[in-house]
Amino acid sequence: MGEFDLIETFFKRPARHATLGVGDDCALLPVGTGQQLAISSDMLVEGRHFLPTVNPRLLGHKALAVNLSDLAACGATPKAFMLALALPEVNTAWLSEFSKGIWNLADAHQCDLIGGDTTRGPLNICITVLGEVPAHLALLRSGAKVGDDIYVSGNLGDARLALEVFRGQLSVPQNVFEQARLRMEMPTPRLALGQALRGIATAAADISDGLLGDLQHILKASQVGADIETNQVVGTLAARAHGNLPLATQLMLTLSGGDDYELVFTAPESKRADIAALSVSTQTPITCIGKIKGSQQLRLLDSQGHEMTHAFQSFDHFKTD
Ligand code: ADP
Ligand code: MG
Repeated sequence: MGEFDLIETFFKRPARHATLGVGDDCALLPVGTGQQLAISSDMLVEGRHFLPTVNPRLLGHKALAVNLSDLAACGATPKAFMLALALPEVNTAWLSEFSKGIWNLADAHQCDLIGGDTTRGPLNICITVLGEVPAHLALLRSGAKVGDDIYVSGNLGDARLALEVFRGQLSVPQNVFEQARLRMEMPTPRLALGQALRGIATAAADISDGLLGDLQHILKASQVGADIETNQVVGTLAARAHGNLPLATQLMLTLSGGDDYELVFTAPESKRADIAALSVSTQTPITCIGKIKGSQQLRLLDSQGHEMTHAFQSFDHFKTD
């Protein structure tokens, strides 16, 4: 099978939003009146982001999910995406499963695959997503204000738990591992929540490199600090109930775990009722984990409200120490 048959077979489908999808030199995408395009790319490299043995359907899901998570973080509605693929060979069974993983998630969010690039090379997947958000309503990292509450969606730490079990660093009962593994391999982009937070959240980011690291991006962009109640944070770890994990491990997993694809966001106290309501309407658990402070420091508090010393690091591909 050649390059163009491959594209035709696995990656070409009629577009919903695009005027022109796969097949020409450029795709064409109309933008609604009063809307802005929100655009983001994420690349997944074999050996770095996933193992060669990973189930290709789950890999397809995750490649798109991590991109949609960025649209969720800025409150955008997904419209289309581009897929740039380097493949070592044409393996039709693999491509069939990989493309199913992509299509299932794309269909769930009415997101069109409108183009991309296909080349031979070490397995590498780069997706660019395009979404729409009404002008001036995009959620940015820079809007957090002193006195705002800090919230996270869903569960933190479970994806990292699964990775540590794979690495042989931690062991948990099989059913706890299976749940955690699903969180690592099939993350849920929080799109409904992101859109519901327009006009309510003052700042937002998705948690891809660990809560503390991604929250730091908000603090830096907003020039503020934060007090974090760590007992609220560890409470979001789904594996906590049956995993028999020491507190230090729970803290590491939830504060600096990474691969969560949940949202961290801030909102004024006056929005507490709105947030409780949208947690219900979007069927997304939301936990308040602390407050924005003026000190420009990130402080971790224990269950007694005492400051903890910490050395939790978020993930950085180029950090050597
Ligand atoms: P060009 O030579 O103009 O760069 P290509 O020959 O690479 O275009 O691609 C032909 C068409 O197929 C284009 O519309 C391109 O966007 C699309 N395409 C290529 N690879 C993919 C892919 N992996 N998924 C979806 N569309 C693709
Ligand atoms: Mg061309």
